[in-house]
This record gives sequence, C-alpha cells and structure tokens, in this order.
Amino acid sequence: MYLPDLAQYQYGVPVPLPDVLAVGWLAAGQPFTVGEIEPDLLAAIGRLVVTHRANPVRGVHECDLCAESRVTRLRAASGESLLLGSAEIWIRAEATGLVYAAPNLIHHYITVEFPGFSGDCSGVVD
Ligand SMILES: [Zn+2]
Repeated sequence: MYLPDLAQYQYGVPVPLPDVLAVGWLAAGQPFTVGEIEPDLLAAIGRLVVTHRANPVRGVHECDLCAESRVTRLRAASGESLLLGSAEIWIRAEATGLVYAAPNLIHHYITVEFPGFSGDCSGVVD
C-alpha cells in the first residue's frame, strides 16, 4: 500500500481521515524522500514498533523494495522477534492534534532500504 508522505490516511477506511497523516508508506516505483536520521530518532522508532502496535493484521506485508521478497523482523531489546509489515505506529502530535501513521516496516525502510543510512543497524534481523 503506497501513500504519499503527509497524505490523508486511507488504508482500510471508507473515507480518508483528515486528521491522520501517512508517513513512510513506501512502494517500489513510487518516489520517496531520503535523508539523514538522528540515531536517537531511529532508536525511538524501534521502541515504538514494540510498544505502539496499531491496526495489527493477521498476515504480513513484505517489503517490495527488497531485491527478493522476504519477511522482515526486528529484534526488540527484550529479545522478542517482531514481524515488520504486520502493524502500524500511530503517534499523536500534542501541539496540533494531528496523528501520524506509519507502517511498522518504516524501521526496515530506514535501516535497510535507504542507501544513505550509515547508522547502527544492530538489532535488525532480516
Ligand atoms: Zn526491504
């Protein structure tokens, strides 16, 4: 499922949600922005994948940016292995009330798919 960054969220809902904005809904052949990320932000995203599971699904969405189709996982600090592509992260901005919704695959996209990423990929299990 591709959604442009900051588009109204519209995955599995009858109408787009104006107060929920999409972030990180990437797909092969679609443009996306690549940039720097602070290690603390990546660590926070890794924690959110574990603690803020929204809209979990029974199946798993495999990353279609990978050269070969594969299920991706994240090893949590607890040792638990979490399937990425199986839920979302929803975060509300207190200042605006807007909610940002990202697939939990966003952690994989940042650590594996972004060609300029040079951070610490420890904890990533693929
Ligand atoms: Zn991938």
